[in-house]
Amino acid sequence: MSYFPTVGLEIHAELKTKSKMFCSCVNNPDEKQPNVNVCPVCLSHPGTLPVINRDAVRKVIKTGLALNCQIPQYSKFDRKNYFYPDLPKGYQISQLYMPFCENGFLEINCSPEGEQVPYGTGRKIRIREIHLEEDTGKLIHPEGADYSLVDFNRAGVPLMELVTEPNIHSAKEARKFAEEFQLILRYLDVSYANMEKGQLRIEVNISLQCKSKIQMPKSKSNPKSKIQNPKLGTKVEIKNLNSFRAVEKGIDYEIERQSEILEKGEKIVQETRGWHDTKQITISQREKEEAHDYRYFPEPDLPMLHIGS
Ligand SMILES: [Zn+2]
Repeated sequence: MSYFPTVGLEIHAELKTKSKMFCSCVNNPDEKQPNVNVCPVCLSHPGTLPVINRDAVRKVIKTGLALNCQIPQYSKFDRKNYFYPDLPKGYQISQLYMPFCENGFLEINCSPEGEQVPYGTGRKIRIREIHLEEDTGKLIHPEGADYSLVDFNRAGVPLMELVTEPNIHSAKEARKFAEEFQLILRYLDVSYANMEKGQLRIEVNISLQCKSKIQMPKSKSNPKSKIQNPKLGTKVEIKNLNSFRAVEKGIDYEIERQSEILEKGEKIVQETRGWHDTKQITISQREKEEAHDYRYFPEPDLPMLHIGS
């Protein structure tokens, strides 16, 4: 039996702005001294209020326009509640219900098999949305120590998240999309987008379907032909992909791992797995959360934004 992979990407990019997302602290990704670019707002002292960074909003919308997105007239922020030591507020200001950009696409000049095709004949990878949120601090684990340290310089840095529709069908296509997206971010001058510095972070969602249960494209030579997917398989998320190569290898590894499980007649567990770059495998980390686990609700301290033309 053979299986057909479906992949969706979630890509975070730190924005290149002078100040942070909701305060006037310097946004300097190269700062080496810990906890110097901080203030009562990004450290979440009681009684402080956020103020929206206009330049960050402009940069997200600029990216959305370059990726053929619709820009809704109104947009607003929501609170995503969870606890982690690098998140001083106990919630992250993000967007769930009304993101800045929706329904875009990016054409990639590559077939699912990875062959280059001329621009204008490649597949259009659909983009569900691009939203804006704030980054967290960084945890540092000194070697051999039985404690961890927190650096809040990055807490509150503007972070853009792009979410594709699940319409990527191979590791090579996913890699190509991510590489093209990096080029666009740099061309627009909205992000440094260095993967090795964590300025561009890619997460992959992948599921497999049995080929006999789906209608494959009529012609292999026509990459634009639609693939009918009545129902996707169980979704597994891969994190900790620190290079484009890791994105490709991680997807290929998961296709093989999940195929073997299905072949044995067993079920795929919906979970988050981490890519282990040295061993070139994915390792189970935790069961996947759903949006309702975060008890999202509208951010009461920020106004709704009206986007002019
Ligand atoms: Zn601050």
